Amino acid sequence: PTSRTAIIAGNWKMNYGPQKASEFTMEIMPSLGQLMRSYPRILCLLCPPAISLSSVREVVDAMPAPRIELGAQNMYYEEKGAFTGEIAPAMVKELCTSVILGHSERRTYFGETDELVNKKARAAFAHRLRPIICIGENLEQFESGSTQEVIRTQIQGSLAGFTPEQAARAVIAYEPIWAIGTGKAATAEQAGLVVHFIREQYSEMYGTEAGDAVRILYGGSVTSENIAEFIAHPDIDGALVGGASLKPDFVEIVRKTI
Ligand code: PEP
Repeated sequence: PTSRTAIIAGNWKMNYGPQKASEFTMEIMPSLGQLMRSYPRILCLLCPPAISLSSVREVVDAMPAPRIELGAQNMYYEEKGAFTGEIAPAMVKELCTSVILGHSERRTYFGETDELVNKKARAAFAHRLRPIICIGENLEQFESGSTQEVIRTQIQGSLAGFTPEQAARAVIAYEPIWAIGTGKAATAEQAGLVVHFIREQYSEMYGTEAGDAVRILYGGSVTSENIAEFIAHPDIDGALVGGASLKPDFVEIVRKTI
């Protein structure tokens, strides 16, 4: 419902090795490709585990369709060198247009801070990768009414120091942690209020042009059953989808977004 192009991003998390990832991509590409050819106002991102990016890339290249791009689920900010187990921005750039940064699972299980997420986001811009920066409050924070405060702190930390052009190119994913993988999605009204707040904060930091341009996604138990409610909100530009992105339901989510 806005001038911004919608984004549906599938975060496969730690599921599907190279073989399974290739099979699943082959399964969804015919119907997904057809949708993408018919509707120009949506971008679709597939974000498999790093080890499966090449096999997904091969399938997508063999079944060409517009605006189906790949994203990594994480990366390091250094250029190269002695960082065992990490992948560098230039490596991601060989296969992907985008990279998810600061997912709540990375913040919770791997100790990622706003400061680290910010370094990674700057590295993404330096390599012309589109960062999808995740923010969101946990259940306790939600219940105690501190959502806005938490979000403000995360925005100020994770999104600091971008140029207005970079800020406009970034994508923000608002993911209330209590809604991730729980089957308990936020209501579109709740999510819409926070997303609107994020857009206001963003405008204060980077100007109204960037605030109007930035794509803000909702994430947390999105399925083909509820996507239409979220997408109907004027401030919500799409979704970051976890569980449902591992199934053909992902194509239905895309179908209901357009
Ligand atoms: C996610 O991983 O970002 C997510 C929102 O997961 P789910 O859709 O499974 O809640």
